Amino acid sequence: MTPERTVLLIEDEPSIRLPLVDDLREAGYRVLVAPDGERGLALALSEDPALVLLDLMLPGRDGFSVLRALRADRCTAPVIVLTARGEGFDRIQGLELGADDYVVKPFLARELLLRMEALLARVRGDVPGLAAGTSVRIGAATVDFAGYRLERGNETIPLSRRELELLRYLLDREGQVLSREALLDGVWGRGVDVTPRTVDQHMLKLRKKLEPDPDAPVHLRTVRGVGYTLVR
Ligand code: CA
Repeated sequence: MTPERTVLLIEDEPSIRLPLVDDLREAGYRVLVAPDGERGLALALSEDPALVLLDLMLPGRDGFSVLRALRADRCTAPVIVLTARGEGFDRIQGLELGADDYVVKPFLARELLLRMEALLARVRGDVPGLAAGTSVRIGAATVDFAGYRLERGNETIPLSRRELELLRYLLDREGQVLSREALLDGVWGRGVDVTPRTVDQHMLKLRKKLEPDPDAPVHLRTVRGVGYTLVR
């Protein structure tokens, strides 16, 4: 069994959890189980599962809080939210927080398994290293370099050539802090009549397209007094 088949199920209700674990195992998954948000979060960060199934109404820390913490801790595993009618799950809010999909209880195991396969296939197509692939996942968004666009949830957002070049440059240096001058040289080219302010303007535009909350960016981060860094 390959590691990509490991899934984490965070669900407190035994009547849902126990049969689901059986169904997942039968389908060939290695299943990690957490009955509350704290333990779920710890397992997600220590075990690096290929996919997370996340109940919303959990004792203590709820699903939204777990999701937020996962994304803040750079966990990029796709997340499927398990919600129930009347729990007030807001689909848009879920997508903005970085959920990839959701199912409403009661759901058929078959439906969930199909959604899981679809997400895992999408992730497998995402090859880090831009030479190998034309689409790259950043948080909940997938940047399609060939198509000049990014996809977030059901939204398709066009990207300009310069925005793509800036993203590509940052992705190639992921985690490094780059000064605005370095970005100008690398993306716009030396001697071009633009100012560091141009970099800021493009960064703002990209954040609006890419970030769950452009005012509190988690992927295109400002490093005060130095410049910018990209975190996937
Ligand atoms: Ca629950």
